[in-house]
Amino acid sequence: PKRVLSGIQPTGRPHWGNYFGAIRQYIQLQDDHDGFYFIADLHALTSVRDAAQLRQNVIDIALDLLALGLDPKQATLFVQSQVPEVSELCWILLSGTPMGLLQRCVAYKEKVDKGIPADAGLFTYPVLQAADILAYDSQLVPVGADQVQHIEVCRDIAGRFNHQYGETFVMPKANVLDDSAKVPGTDGEKMSKSYDNTLPLFGEVKSIRKQIMRITTDSRPMEEPKEPAGDHLFQLYSLFADPGQRDEMAAMYRRGGFGYGEVKKAIAEASEAYFADARARRVDLEKNLDYVHEVLRAGAERARTVAADVLLRAQQASGLK
Ligand code: ATP
Ligand code: MG
Repeated sequence: PKRVLSGIQPTGRPHWGNYFGAIRQYIQLQDDHDGFYFIADLHALTSVRDAAQLRQNVIDIALDLLALGLDPKQATLFVQSQVPEVSELCWILLSGTPMGLLQRCVAYKEKVDKGIPADAGLFTYPVLQAADILAYDSQLVPVGADQVQHIEVCRDIAGRFNHQYGETFVMPKANVLDDSAKVPGTDGEKMSKSYDNTLPLFGEVKSIRKQIMRITTDSRPMEEPKEPAGDHLFQLYSLFADPGQRDEMAAMYRRGGFGYGEVKKAIAEASEAYFADARARRVDLEKNLDYVHEVLRAGAERARTVAADVLLRAQQASGLK
């Protein structure tokens, strides 16, 4: 089976964008692929500066992923920093990465534009990500649209190395789902943990409902018909609706004469039903943290044996061994 790899940062509570853009694919692919899924704590260091918070976030994300249906019997779930081979490989890759390649990365530029203070870790983040991908001979990387450029950077870095030292790394491919590649946040922009515009997967239903009711809308008069495509409320509703419900909602948009409050209420109800099972499973898992720690320990052990092999290949190719 093909090796699939993807990571999620423990930078805050996972949100609808994370689920529909990435996590849902992890779960769909785990049956007939060799899934490697990791919690990217090294990446999170560039934004989470509180040690206790970081530790808590890591466990929380593990609980979230397991509750959503990630099955450790089928997939390998682990914490990034527990595979030190990746950091070693990262240095080897950094040494062959042109500055210009990283300067062109949009995710970095967007964060800087939003006033998020950037350190060297944030700037070189795509190289650590390349190490994550290459260390496991990953073939497929399920991600949201925001990560496609980083996968290109990874392919570029791998190609340069292979060209310089001979075939060493497997070329990965991004796997993006068209309909949920870029889930909008409560402000209509890309939903992102660092933009404070998220709708979380878990948490108090009442407070999530309040956040849904606060999603920004235009001030269009109610009776005016509206084209649903491109409307972020319609996009959010479509995540949860079956095709019939979606067509009905689209027809309502085109007829006009409805309030955005109605659409928000429909989103709240559909999302609550959609995540109800996962919520219940999470409550059970929280009572069994020993199990969660054991899953992560076994996952890291398995991941390390693969990464050690690839690191050795890179060390031998480049003359370090
Ligand atoms: P941060 O703001 O800390 O970067 P994030 O919200 O972007 O957090 P990540 O942990 O960086 O989340 O991303 C985890 C996965 O979720 C990635 O594959 C990413 O492409 C995907 N993803 C993140 N936001 C969205 C979104 N709005 N729509 C679709 N996919 C998304
Ligand atoms: Mg991100």
